[in-house]
Amino acid sequence: MKPISSRDTMKRDMMEIICCPVCKSELALEVKKENDAEVLSGSLMCKKCNHTYRIEDGIPNLLPPGFE
Ligand SMILES: [Zn+2]
Repeated sequence: MKPISSRDTMKRDMMEIICCPVCKSELALEVKKENDAEVLSGSLMCKKCNHTYRIEDGIPNLLPPGFE
Protein backbone atom coordinates (compact mmCIF):
# COMPACT_ATOMS: atom_id res chain seq x y z
CA MET A 1 0.00 0.00 0.00
CA LYS A 2 1.22 3.51 -0.82
CA PRO A 3 -0.27 6.99 -0.77
CA ILE A 4 -1.75 7.85 -4.15
CA SER A 5 -0.20 10.59 -6.25
CA SER A 6 -2.55 13.44 -6.99
CA ARG A 7 -1.35 13.37 -10.60
CA ASP A 8 -2.76 9.93 -11.29
CA THR A 9 -6.22 9.44 -12.68
CA MET A 10 -8.46 7.23 -10.59
CA LYS A 11 -8.74 3.69 -11.88
CA ARG A 12 -10.72 1.03 -10.09
CA ASP A 13 -7.77 -1.33 -9.77
CA MET A 14 -5.90 1.40 -7.95
CA MET A 15 -8.05 0.63 -4.92
CA GLU A 16 -5.78 -2.35 -4.30
CA ILE A 17 -2.66 -0.25 -3.91
CA ILE A 18 -3.72 3.09 -2.50
CA CYS A 19 -4.36 4.10 1.08
CA CYS A 20 -5.25 7.16 3.11
CA PRO A 21 -2.43 9.72 2.92
CA VAL A 22 -3.12 10.72 6.51
CA CYS A 23 -3.34 7.44 8.43
CA LYS A 24 -2.42 4.84 5.76
CA SER A 25 -5.68 2.95 6.20
CA GLU A 26 -7.94 1.46 3.56
CA LEU A 27 -10.18 3.72 1.52
CA ALA A 28 -13.78 3.05 0.51
CA LEU A 29 -14.64 4.05 -3.06
CA GLU A 30 -17.96 5.63 -3.92
CA VAL A 31 -18.52 6.05 -7.65
CA LYS A 32 -20.85 8.66 -9.07
CA LYS A 33 -19.65 8.56 -12.66
CA GLU A 34 -17.20 6.28 -14.45
CA ASN A 35 -16.15 5.03 -17.87
CA ASP A 36 -14.54 1.71 -18.85
CA ALA A 37 -11.16 2.60 -17.43
CA GLU A 38 -11.53 5.32 -14.87
CA VAL A 39 -13.67 6.69 -12.11
CA LEU A 40 -14.55 10.19 -13.30
CA SER A 41 -16.49 11.45 -10.34
CA GLY A 42 -17.05 10.24 -6.82
CA SER A 43 -15.24 10.03 -3.53
CA LEU A 44 -12.81 8.03 -1.48
CA MET A 45 -13.55 7.75 2.22
CA CYS A 46 -11.05 6.64 4.81
CA LYS A 47 -12.46 3.87 6.97
CA LYS A 48 -10.38 4.95 9.94
CA CYS A 49 -10.17 8.76 10.10
CA ASN A 50 -13.39 9.30 8.07
CA HIS A 51 -11.86 11.96 5.86
CA THR A 52 -13.44 12.08 2.41
CA TYR A 53 -11.36 12.74 -0.68
CA ARG A 54 -13.24 13.93 -3.73
CA ILE A 55 -12.65 12.60 -7.24
CA GLU A 56 -13.31 15.15 -9.97
CA ASP A 57 -12.62 14.78 -13.70
CA GLY A 58 -10.87 11.48 -12.94
CA ILE A 59 -8.38 13.08 -10.56
CA PRO A 60 -8.55 12.17 -6.88
CA ASN A 61 -7.95 15.09 -4.55
CA LEU A 62 -5.93 13.45 -1.82
CA LEU A 63 -4.66 16.47 0.01
CA PRO A 64 -4.77 15.84 3.74
CA PRO A 65 -7.25 17.83 5.85
CA GLY A 66 -5.93 21.32 6.45
CA PHE A 67 -4.12 21.54 3.11
CA GLU A 68 -7.17 22.25 0.96
ZN1 LIG B 1 -7.29 8.04 7.15
